[in-house]
Amino acid sequence: MIPQQQKPPIIWLNVSLFTLTFAIAVIGVPLYLYFYHLDVALIVMTVVAFCYCGMSITAGYHRLWAHQSYQANRFLRLVFALGGAFALQNSILHWCSDHRVHHRHVDNNLKDPYSAKMGFFYSHIGWMLRHYQASRYHDYSNCSDLQNDPIVVWQHKYYFLLAAMMNIGVPVIIGLLLGNVLGALLFIGVLRLVLSHHTTFFINSLAHKWGSQPYTDRNTARDNGVIAWLTFGEGYHNYHHIFENDYRNGIRWWQFDPTKWLIKSCSWLGWTTNLKVTSADRIEKTRAKMEFMRLQYQFKTLPNNSARLLQLQYEYEALISKISDYYQVKKRLIDLRQQKLANDYENFEFMQQYESIKQKLNQQRRDWKYLVQQYTV
Ligand SMILES: [Zn+2]
Ligand SMILES: [Zn+2]
Repeated sequence: MIPQQQKPPIIWLNVSLFTLTFAIAVIGVPLYLYFYHLDVALIVMTVVAFCYCGMSITAGYHRLWAHQSYQANRFLRLVFALGGAFALQNSILHWCSDHRVHHRHVDNNLKDPYSAKMGFFYSHIGWMLRHYQASRYHDYSNCSDLQNDPIVVWQHKYYFLLAAMMNIGVPVIIGLLLGNVLGALLFIGVLRLVLSHHTTFFINSLAHKWGSQPYTDRNTARDNGVIAWLTFGEGYHNYHHIFENDYRNGIRWWQFDPTKWLIKSCSWLGWTTNLKVTSADRIEKTRAKMEFMRLQYQFKTLPNNSARLLQLQYEYEALISKISDYYQVKKRLIDLRQQKLANDYENFEFMQQYESIKQKLNQQRRDWKYLVQQYTV
């Protein structure tokens, strides 16, 4: 047999860890519930530990370190570094290196470490069960910036010790405090870990499979409000793959993104700074472009399509130009407001111009929406 066709060797540590923890959770938890009474304090502590692990990955590993979408003070970085070891998802350095490759070569089966095109199981957990990318396993050259962060370096160096301390030490201490070490080991130790693992893994599997593609169809990433609830806000993955440096994934106020809320709240305390956001006009234009391309593709399949295609082109260009006009005057309005000049008599004319441009854009948005909805099945 040609060596390249052989499957890479199994990573027995990972296989044993995932299998054992999963088995203990699905067998041990029902047995415990059958024999013992489950107290509220244990449930609360399990939920707290689950959220701590999840948010350390989403706010810390992902949005802070992998994408540098904001900066955090030493205290918060230390909290996330310990939480990441608790979540047992490898060191910050290793995780971020994989994730940066994922963004750079998304869906490329040879390069993307958890390419969704390799199938659901592979992108969810299979990629961690064999040495698929052994050649670049210790190559952290795409994370040279992170190697200047002493907390990242420290966590990488003592990762196994920290992971053991957090996963055994924390449940034991809580268990002693609650007077229930067995329950704490089972719920805070094992059940929390299994739930934390699979909810994070959903971002690589489910969030590349199920949902809409409002911003781009050049990769498999999807936006999905349900997945956002399972992943602390990471379900808006189509948006994330196109605007990866934005500290938000759910950009609307009603979208469930507790990771965004945490980062923003910490900024009020001065713990996080330099929160990066994509400009609203760029977001709106990207979305409109995707809708335009979809309709164009659809119209090309219809007979006698030239008039329709011309109208589509006209409406799209009008929308893009009105978005540009509006955000330009809006920027000026913000400048004037900062200088407290917006209500001055001299700016009365400008305010009238602003209102007129705003109304024209709103009308164009309505026309565009009508056009899109007409042809959306
Ligand atoms: Zn992805
Ligand atoms: Zn990412």
